[in-house]
Amino acid sequence: MPVLPLAPGAAIGIIGGGQLGRMLAQAAARLGFDAIILEPEPESPASRVAAHTIVAAYDDPMALRTLADVATIVTYEFENVPVGAVEGLLALGMEVAPGARALAVAQDRVEEKSFLNAQGVATVAFAGADTAREAFEAVAAVGAPALMKTRRDGYDGKGQRWVEHAPDAAAAFEALGSVPVIVEAACEFTRELSIIAARGRDGSTAIYPLAENHHEHGILRRSLAPARADQALSDQAERIAARILAGLDYVGVIGIELFEMADGRLLVNEIAPRVHNTGHWTQDGCEVDQFEQHIRAVAGWPLGPTQAIAQVEMLNLLGDEADAWAKYAAEPETRLHLYGKREAKPGRKMGHINRVRAL
Ligand code: AMP
Repeated sequence: MPVLPLAPGAAIGIIGGGQLGRMLAQAAARLGFDAIILEPEPESPASRVAAHTIVAAYDDPMALRTLADVATIVTYEFENVPVGAVEGLLALGMEVAPGARALAVAQDRVEEKSFLNAQGVATVAFAGADTAREAFEAVAAVGAPALMKTRRDGYDGKGQRWVEHAPDAAAAFEALGSVPVIVEAACEFTRELSIIAARGRDGSTAIYPLAENHHEHGILRRSLAPARADQALSDQAERIAARILAGLDYVGVIGIELFEMADGRLLVNEIAPRVHNTGHWTQDGCEVDQFEQHIRAVAGWPLGPTQAIAQVEMLNLLGDEADAWAKYAAEPETRLHLYGKREAKPGRKMGHINRVRAL
């Protein structure tokens, strides 16, 4: 166990070199740490701003040993890090935060929803299925229409199929690759919200205001924060966050996606054991943003304030939309965040803007 709080000058390992790793590395650097990235892509967004990058597969044993040699603490920027990589680091005596449990729960949609329900946190009705026959039974059990998702490796709406009638379940199961799936009841939510929360090494928590999120083709397009919410709704979201953080004995920032129902209840759709796209508004809407908060938490520093100091509209810049950078740069209310990606593929997250207004 490293000496905590971690003193500036130490190196923090980050598994994953995407934009989240980049913004974590920037926050780490601002607090005086060196960010060491582990990432198979040689020219990653994070490597352009980090102190050092190890270019290797996430579970490459040599690379993990090097990371353990240079870094004092390791964290990650995405939840599909092989659990074996984290276990390999733990076996080398490394401290990894958030831990292997958060990763294992978030990597499997059935585990995730089972964990949530066990914490007294509500979700849609769901059932797991490993065969076409079980998929049919699962749809019959939760009721059609239902949403079938792969248990693992889904992101940005990928690996999902709507099933309108139970007899269509087998075809959907095959279209998803005949891999284990979760079948979820269709949720008639009124809004999609999310809450970003952090837990420190000492069990203290810091929870940001709710964000309201809008998706297009399964990809986040826009967040508005703080979301319109009365005290009862905010309190409910904070209670949910607190239960999840405590249940996972969590250290770091977590993103929790919520469905708001017409009767005011919140259901949890998904948890992401990392900084989250719906928390990018905190960069310009809060004094301590989610990236610095995560670094503070894993380094054993006190958590920072989370109240909003501005109203923010966050827009993701997808594909060639980032080509309009000069227009955004000329808008006085707009803060531009670009990820340094050289190739703009359709739908690829190239950057985001935060349009800021006084509260
Ligand atoms: P996910 O990959 O679980 O985050 O789902 C991506 C998007 O699909 C969500 O943001 C919702 O808009 C929608 N969605 C997911 N699950 C459900 C559900 N059970 N019922 C209705 N819509 C859903």
